[in-house]
Amino acid sequence: MAIEQISRLSTGGATPKVGFVSLGCPKALVDSEQILTQLRAEGYDTAKSYDGADLVIVNTCGFIDAAVQESLDAIGEALSENGKVIVTGCLGAKKDASGNDIIMSVHPKVLAVTGPHALGEVMDAVHIHLPKPHEPFIDLVPAQGVKLTPKHFAYLKISEGCNHRCSFCIIPSMRGDLVSRPIADVMLEAENLFKAGVKELLVISQDTSAYGVDVKFRMGFWNGKPVKTHMTQLVEALGGLAKQYGAWVRLHYVYPYPHVDQIIPMMDGNVLPYLDVPLQHAHPAVLKRMKRPASGEKNIERIRAWREMCPDITIRSTFIAGFPGETEEEFEYLLDFLKEAEIDRLGCFAYSPVEGATANELENPVPEEVREDRRRRVMELQEGISKKRLQAKVGKTLRVLIDSLDSSGGVGRTSADAPEIDGVVYVKPPYEPNRKLKVGEFFDVTITAADAHDLWGEAN
Ligand code: SF4
Repeated sequence: MAIEQISRLSTGGATPKVGFVSLGCPKALVDSEQILTQLRAEGYDTAKSYDGADLVIVNTCGFIDAAVQESLDAIGEALSENGKVIVTGCLGAKKDASGNDIIMSVHPKVLAVTGPHALGEVMDAVHIHLPKPHEPFIDLVPAQGVKLTPKHFAYLKISEGCNHRCSFCIIPSMRGDLVSRPIADVMLEAENLFKAGVKELLVISQDTSAYGVDVKFRMGFWNGKPVKTHMTQLVEALGGLAKQYGAWVRLHYVYPYPHVDQIIPMMDGNVLPYLDVPLQHAHPAVLKRMKRPASGEKNIERIRAWREMCPDITIRSTFIAGFPGETEEEFEYLLDFLKEAEIDRLGCFAYSPVEGATANELENPVPEEVREDRRRRVMELQEGISKKRLQAKVGKTLRVLIDSLDSSGGVGRTSADAPEIDGVVYVKPPYEPNRKLKVGEFFDVTITAADAHDLWGEAN
């Protein structure tokens, strides 16, 4: 582009500014990143405060009641502080009992409402209420897009929606059936992220094991070679790419289907020995009431086999305590499973009836205090398991990715720790004065202490 053209573009009218509030899960975060990337591509600026913005977009979450309230409050605040508000995200797709749009009923002054994963609709609404700059600075968009996570890790969304119909979940009614992204697009995004300095890529979706089912595992092309739209081929290709950049790939939301066994031998350092497998329960009757995918799989045997193939594997899972109809016996079956499985990283939620979920119609709901008590019992059991498993790491030297620095050194994560949901390692800096801890870099750290959640160590 000639210099005259650049100056003509840059001296045009004031650049329209959009404020952005991003709520919800990592999948919503990826939607936010795509909207921000598109805004930047079209020449919009982002504003850091409500009064500096010409318009505000709020990306909402509608999963549980507390998230709905948080989203409605955020919309209210944006309306009173700015006045021009577009709403997107899961809450945008929710209706109240009489079939009315929840957001419009509470906040009728909102300019437009869309559901999740609606980049096109959001941009249409932005164009109506804040016309786009005459000529976009397309060259200002970094190839990796705009990221909301720190520069050294990023989420990579491989598909949208879900073909399952778990009875406690309303995501399919909000996000629709599974739609897998073309494998070439996913790989290109991964490559751009690595080129931009990302050292850890977190693969997310509603059901990572199902990647490609909707397109019958269609053949795609990456780097001139055929690659199937299939989880195993995707992980293999991502692992190869991560190796070139000395980076990590971490897998989330993996259901324990038999083909997952083929992933375990790929966990060689670049594909992390880490599987986030949301099991939710162990008792067959409860899993059946939950309508869980892969509920017929023998999970204990599968976990045992994974650990035999890869002794360092970290297994993360989430569970629900007090699901409708759960008897004390079924709950104790879950406790026995947890004692045997020794899940490394575990989250447990007391069942919370989500509006619109079919599980709310099941017989024999468990009283709230029993649900809470069962959640507490799971976490109490897990505390001991986690303590024991972390204690076994003391004395070992582990690779740690540094996330932040503080006055006593740095805080980082090993292969066993996904950001925000797992533990951390508090790292003392190396003794050599010219070797300093740096955010986004890997260090070998000798572990000196552990509690039930975190580790402490010294960088070598
Ligand atoms: S697998 Fe079940 S819980 Fe997960 S998104 Fe699909 S329906 Fe919801």
